[in-house]
Amino acid sequence: ATPTAIMVGTGLGARRGVLFKNAMALETSARIQAVVMDKTGTLTKGEPEVTDVIVEGIAEDELLRLVAGVERESEHPLAGAIVRHAGRLGEPPRADTFANVPGHGAIAEVDGRRVVVGNRRLMEREGIGLGALAAAREELAAGGRTAVIAAVDGRAAGLVGIADAPRDTSAAAVAALHRSGIEVIMLTGDNEATARRIAGRLGIDTVIAEVLPGDKAAEIAKLQRGGRKVAMVGDGVNDAPALAQADLGIAIGAGTDVAIETADVVLMRSDPLDVPTALTIGGGTLRKMR
Ligand code: ADP
Ligand code: MG
Repeated sequence: ATPTAIMVGTGLGARRGVLFKNAMALETSARIQAVVMDKTGTLTKGEPEVTDVIVEGIAEDELLRLVAGVERESEHPLAGAIVRHAGRLGEPPRADTFANVPGHGAIAEVDGRRVVVGNRRLMEREGIGLGALAAAREELAAGGRTAVIAAVDGRAAGLVGIADAPRDTSAAAVAALHRSGIEVIMLTGDNEATARRIAGRLGIDTVIAEVLPGDKAAEIAKLQRGGRKVAMVGDGVNDAPALAQADLGIAIGAGTDVAIETADVVLMRSDPLDVPTALTIGGGTLRKMR
């Protein structure tokens, strides 16, 4: 593009809080064919809240205290929601031998009991069956909730259902991208049924779920096969390698520093509608140079 077209495009973006880091970003945005969106913190508000606690053979408060003991040691957003929810029970018991299992959950000794907290994959890894809780877990997931499973001394003892509301403009952003002929894909570490339910509400038909943190970039590379131009929109530390792999990395302004540093475009207002805006500004810039 001509220097003038780039200045105009960059200026237009800046006025709307869409920061293009360089001329290349502006040009690439005009050629995007597919947009991959991280679920948590990008399509959703990233403010998870506990909605349900379901127990099996243990008192609810007891289960919550043990789980909060583990999650107090974790930096995961789901952990924060659980610790807040258990706040009324006072200080959680101390955890020993805490181990974080990325993309799975966490394990610790609390009150002398071995507490495993996380997703189905973690329970499989630990050889723990869901038993009577299996149906309730499916029901939570089908309702778009993330079901955190808690096992105590090798037995599944409870479920914590967590909801994270979509951002107000996520569905409109997806619709605008579709109108421009761009495919929209949801990418998440969360479980398949939960992700599909939320994607359905937002009008997204392609979902790539249960992706381990280290595998997000490889999923982007697969989508780029055949030379397809792919943009990735994300907010988290986990998303940085995928943002770098994408033809165009777009960071949510409210996201982590690593995501913002890695991205080619930053959306200062953290509004998903600024994704189609960014691509439209890019298109306008290209047309002007012709
Ligand atoms: P994403 O950021 O895409 O949601 P993560 O890789 O951080 O994905 O987590 C994937 C899944 O692993 C979560 O949806 C949750 O089920 C489980 N998980 C990870 N960490 C924890 C934790 N501390 N407590 C409970 N569940 C966890
Ligand atoms: Mg995220």
